[in-house]
Amino acid sequence: MLALQALTAEELVRSVEGLRPDEARRIVSAVNRGLPVDVPFDQVRKLMITAVRAAGHVPTLAIKAVEASAVDAFAKLALLTHDDRVIEAVRIPLEDPTRASACVSSQVGCALACSFCATGRMGFFRNLETWEIVEQVRLLRHSEGLGLPRRIHGVVFQGMGEPLLNLDRVIAAIRVMSQPSGLAIDMKAMTVCTSGIPDGIRRMALEVPRVRLGVSIGSARREKRSLLMPVERLHSLDDTLEAVAFHAKTTGLKPMVAYTPLDGVNDSDEDADALAEALQRFAVVAGTSARLSVIPYNRENDADPYRRQTPERRLSFLDALRARGLHPHERYSGSGDIAAACGQLAARGENGQGASMRKPERDAVVSPGDRAG
Ligand code: SF4
Repeated sequence: MLALQALTAEELVRSVEGLRPDEARRIVSAVNRGLPVDVPFDQVRKLMITAVRAAGHVPTLAIKAVEASAVDAFAKLALLTHDDRVIEAVRIPLEDPTRASACVSSQVGCALACSFCATGRMGFFRNLETWEIVEQVRLLRHSEGLGLPRRIHGVVFQGMGEPLLNLDRVIAAIRVMSQPSGLAIDMKAMTVCTSGIPDGIRRMALEVPRVRLGVSIGSARREKRSLLMPVERLHSLDDTLEAVAFHAKTTGLKPMVAYTPLDGVNDSDEDADALAEALQRFAVVAGTSARLSVIPYNRENDADPYRRQTPERRLSFLDALRARGLHPHERYSGSGDIAAACGQLAARGENGQGASMRKPERDAVVSPGDRAG
C-alpha cells in the first residue's frame, strides 16, 4: 500500500481510477498541509477517504521528543519509525520569524563512518522511505512543543545519513515537497549535502537541476581525508570535485563546500594550501567558484578526540584561507544546548547505540539565499 505523502498529484491520478487532476491536487494539499482534513464531511475529506481506500494510507512518524533551544530558535524532533528506530529532524529559524528551514534525515544511521560523526558511529540500519522524508518536513511545520507554526521555506538534507545513497527516495521526496499542491517549497530552496558520491551528484544535476548541492570536504589532503572520511578510498576528492564541476556547469548553481576545522588536525598552513589548490582547480574546471563555508566544530565531551579551534587558531586559519585567495564564510552552527547543531544529529542513546560524537561536516545553518550557491 502506498503512503499518500510519497505521491505527487499526477501519480495519484494514475493510482486512483476516475480521480480528476483537480481532485488529486486537493487531496495532496490536504495530506501535506493538513488544512481541510479536519472539517467533517468536507468534500476534500470525502475525496481523501476515497483515495486512501483506493491507493494507500497516510502513515506518520511518532514524536518521541521535542526539544526547543533556550539559546536560539532552533528546535529538534526525535521521531520514532514503525520499526522502532529514532531519526531526528531540526527546524532552523530564518530571519523572518514566520519562516524556517527543515534539516531532514535521509537514512537511519550511515554506512560511511566519518570519524568525527555521531551518525557514522551508529552504523547503517536502513534507508528512509519517501514518505518518511516528507513527513519530517510536515511535522516540523507545526508540532506541539515547537512553538508557533512556521512556514517551511527550505529543506536541507544534512541530517542523519548520506542522501545520495538513498537518491531515488530523496528525489521523489523533493518532487512531492516542491509541488504547489503539496508543501510548495521551491526546489531552489532545497540543498542536498553529500560527503561525495560522484554518480549521485551527476544524477542530481540531470534529474533535479534546480536543487542546490553542498559537499563536505573534511580535508583536501588525501591521506588525512581518508582517515577522517573513509569515502575518500572509494571516491577521491578529485573525482568528487569533477562531478561537482559537472553539476555546476549543468545547473548554473554554485556549490557550497563545507569545511570544519578540527583543532590541530586539518587546520595547518599545509591544509589551507591543499584546500586552496583544490578549490582553485575546481574553479578552472567548473568555470565558477565554490562557496566555502567554514563551520565551527561542536565538541560534545571529553571523550571526543576532536576539539574546536581556539579563537586565535580560528582567526589565523581564516586569515590563511584569505591569504590564499579564498573567501570563507563562517557559519553559526546553532543550538548546542539541544544537540541540533551541525554534526550533532545521532539520536544519541537510541537505535541500540550510544553514539556520543557529533557530525560537524554539515552546515546546518542555511538561509534562503545562502544555501549552496
Ligand atoms: S558525515 Fe554524513 S556521510 Fe559521514 S558518516 Fe556522518 S552522516 Fe554519514
